[in-house]
Amino acid sequence: AQVTDIGPTGLSYQTRVKTADGSERLESHRLPTRTIVWAAGVAGSPLGRELARSTGCNLDRAGRVLVQPDLSLAGHPEIQVVGDLASAKSYLDPQSPTPVPGVSPAAKQMGRRAAKNLLHRMKGRETKPFVYADYGSLATIGRKAAIAMVDMPVFGRVKFSGFSAWLFWLFVHIYFLIGFRNRLFVMWDWAWAYFTAQRNARVVPDAPTPSTLPEHGASRQAA
Ligand SMILES: Cc1cc2nc3c(=O)[nH]c(=O)nc-3n(C[C@H](O)[C@H](O)[C@H](O)COP(=O)(O)OP(=O)(O)OC[C@H]3O[C@@H](n4cnc5c(N)ncnc54)[C@H](O)[C@@H]3O)c2cc1C
Repeated sequence: AQVTDIGPTGLSYQTRVKTADGSERLESHRLPTRTIVWAAGVAGSPLGRELARSTGCNLDRAGRVLVQPDLSLAGHPEIQVVGDLASAKSYLDPQSPTPVPGVSPAAKQMGRRAAKNLLHRMKGRETKPFVYADYGSLATIGRKAAIAMVDMPVFGRVKFSGFSAWLFWLFVHIYFLIGFRNRLFVMWDWAWAYFTAQRNARVVPDAPTPSTLPEHGASRQAA
C-alpha cells in the first residue's frame, strides 16, 4: 500500500490489485483516523543521486549509496561514503556481513573507519572493511521512563527500564555530544521542554527574494 494523502481526519492510500485479465490496477482507499504514526523510514540525501550520476555508483531502494566493504565507492577508492547516506554492511564475520543500522553511533564509527582507511591508503597500505560495534539500544517512553539494553564489559547484555533507564538515556545523550557549549545548550533546551511542555522549534523559512520584500521607499512614504 502507498499513502497518497494525510489529513487531520485520516489518510488515503492506494493498493495494487490484480484484475481478471492478469493486469494490475490501483485501488484507492480512505482510512479515517485522528492518530497517525509515520514509520515509513527516511530517504537518502539527494547527494546520493548526484554521486550516482557522476560516478555510476549504485543506490539502494532508499537512495542510499551502496559502498564497498571499506566504505569506498566501486571503482572510486578516493571517494568514501559514511553515515546515513551509505548503504553499508558490517564485516565482523566476513562470510556473512550484516546491514548497518541508520543510527548515529554507526555514522560516527564509519567516520572513524573512513579516516583510518584514508591514512592507510596514503601510506600505501591495504584498507580494512568496516565493522560495526553495537553497544545496545536506548529509547524513551513518555516523560519519565525509558528502556535500555546495553552491553557492559563484565556483565554482558544488561536490560533495565523505568526512571533509572530514563536518567541513563539523558546522561548518554548529553555525554556523547561534542563540546561543552553543545551540552549546555541541549541541557537547557531539554529542561525548558520538560518543565514547560513546550518545544523550542527552529523554523528556517525560505530566504526572502527581492520580489517578496516590501518596497522600502514606498512603505516609508506611506508612513
Ligand atoms: C526523527 C529521527 C530520530 C532519530 N533518532 C535517533 C536516535 O534516537 N538514536 C540514534 O542513534 N539515531 C537516531 N536517528 C538517526 C541519526 O540521526 C542518524 O543516523 C545520524 O544523524 C546520521 O549521521 P550523518 O552524519 O550520516 O547524517 P546527518 O546527521 O543527517 O548529517 C548530514 C549533514 O549533511 C548535510 N548535507 C546534506 N546534503 C548536503 C550537501 N549537498 N552539501 C552539504 N551538506 C549537506 C545535512 O544538512 C546534515 O547537516 C534518528 C533520525 C531521525 C530522522
